Amino acid sequence: MDEKEKYVEELVDLEDDYSKWYNQVVRKAELADYAPVRGCMIIRPYGYAIWENIQGLLDRRFKETGVVNAYFPLFIPRSFLEKEAEHVEGFAPEVAWVTRGGGEELEEPLAVRPTSETIIGHSYAKWVQSYRDLPLLINQWNNVVRWEKRTALFLRTSEFLWQEGHTAHRTLEEAEERTQMMLEVYRSFAEEDAAIPVIAGRKSENEKFAGALRTYSIEALMGDGKALQAGTSHNLAHNFAKGFDIQFLDSDGQRKYCATTSWGMSTRMIGALIMVHGDKSGLMLPPRIAPYQAVIVPIWRKDKDKEVVMGALERLEKILKGKVRFKTDVSENTPGWKFNEWEMRGVPVRIEIGPRDVQNNSVVLVRRDNRAKEIVSIDALETRLPELLEEVQQAMYQRAVEFREKNTYYTEDYEEFKQIIAEKRGFVRVKWAEDSEAEKAIKEETKATLRVIPFDQPEGGVKGKCIYTGKPATCEAVFARAY
Ligand code: AMP
Repeated sequence: MDEKEKYVEELVDLEDDYSKWYNQVVRKAELADYAPVRGCMIIRPYGYAIWENIQGLLDRRFKETGVVNAYFPLFIPRSFLEKEAEHVEGFAPEVAWVTRGGGEELEEPLAVRPTSETIIGHSYAKWVQSYRDLPLLINQWNNVVRWEKRTALFLRTSEFLWQEGHTAHRTLEEAEERTQMMLEVYRSFAEEDAAIPVIAGRKSENEKFAGALRTYSIEALMGDGKALQAGTSHNLAHNFAKGFDIQFLDSDGQRKYCATTSWGMSTRMIGALIMVHGDKSGLMLPPRIAPYQAVIVPIWRKDKDKEVVMGALERLEKILKGKVRFKTDVSENTPGWKFNEWEMRGVPVRIEIGPRDVQNNSVVLVRRDNRAKEIVSIDALETRLPELLEEVQQAMYQRAVEFREKNTYYTEDYEEFKQIIAEKRGFVRVKWAEDSEAEKAIKEETKATLRVIPFDQPEGGVKGKCIYTGKPATCEAVFARAY
C-alpha cells in the first residue's frame, strides 16, 4: 500500500460507523481536539479559520439589518438569573457557578453565562428611557457555558462560541418582525453561504426557549438522516422586560414595557458543514466558507523540473492574490499525499502544476466535490477559478437539497411513521394538532422530536386528522431523530 492509500484507509467508511467517521474527520482535518475538561474542546487553527469566515459572513448580514456589536460580562449575578421564572427553571441544570474568588467565598454566587438575556436586560433598562431610544439592536460574539450531559465535538459542547443578538422594541409586532427577520438571516446564510438547505419555521411549546413567547428555528438534515437545529430566534415578548424593568415613555405619554428578542448561531454550524457535505475522503467545504478555496500542488520528479515548476508558482500566486483564498503546498510530502490531505481538509479546488503544464502555460484544476478535471491556461485562471468556485458552491447546495428530498417522508399513518423513524430516519412530515402530551409520547415511543412547524404550510390550511391524536389537524409538522 502506498502512503497515498494509507491516509484514506485510516478513515472509517461513513456508511459503516457514522459517528466514528465524524470524529475522525474532525481530528484528521485538524479542526478540533478534545480538551482536558470533559465536554470542552480545543478549536485548532484550521477549524478556527472556518469559524472566522462564518463570523465574517454572518456579521455582514447582521449589520445590513442595522445591528451593531458590543460586549457584556462573562459573570452574571445569581439574582439576575432568578428574575425570569421560566428562564431560570429552564437553564438551572446547565449553569456553572463561581462561588469563590480572591481566596474568599463570594457574597453572591456568579453564573458563568449560559446566555445573556438577563445581564443585557439589566443594561437595557438603564439605556432605554423614551420611545426615541428604540429599537436597540445589539449583538455580541462570545463564549457561553452550558453543562451538557451528552456532548459531541462542535455539535454540543459545554463551552461553545456563538453570537447572541438581543434587541428591544416599542411594540410586540416590531419584535415579532425582528425575530423572523433574523431567522431569515440565518436561513439565507445557511443556504447561500454554507450550502446547507434548511427548513425554517416555529418550534413547538415543548421545544421553545426558556422564557420565550415563541421560538423559530432552522433545521438541517445531516448525512446520517438525523436532524440538527442550526440556529434559533426567539420572540421574548414582554417577559424579560418585566423581569428587568425595561420601560420607556411612549409618544402618548404612557410608560410601557419593551418587547425583546434574542437569536443565536454557534460553532455547531461547523459540525453541520462536516455532516452535510463530508464524504469518504473527509471534509468538503463550500467555497464561501473554506479557509482555502484552492490549494496549489506543485509536481516534479527531477531536480531540474523543480526549478521550472517553482518559478511558475510565483507567477501563479501573483495572479491569484487578492482574488481567491489559496495555499501553496511546498512541503516535502509527495503529491499523492498532498492530494489526500487537502481532500481530507475539504479544499474545494486543487490546482496541479507540473513541468509539462508550465511548458503549455496551463494548470490542471480538480474539483473536490466530483473530482472533475479541467485544463486551464494560466492567463484564464483569474476569471475561470472564481467561476468554478461558484459552480462548486451551487453544486454542493444542489447535492444537499437532493439528499434532503430523498430523505423526507410524508405519512398519515402512525405505524408507518414509527417504521420510517426506526429504519430510515430522515425528516417525517405529518398532520398535527398541536398537543404537548402527544409530542412527549411520540418522543418516548420513537425518540423522534418535533423539529419544526414549517412556515411553508399547505395553501388553504391543513385538512384531516392529527397523526397521533386523531384530532382535527391545525398544521403540518416535521419530526426527526435529532442531534
Ligand atoms: P439557544 O440560545 O438555546 O436558542 O441556542 C442558540 C443556538 O446555539 C442553537 O440553535 C444551537 O444551534 C446552538 N447551541 C445550543 N446549545 C449548544 C451547545 N451545547 N453546543 C453548541 N451549540 C449549541
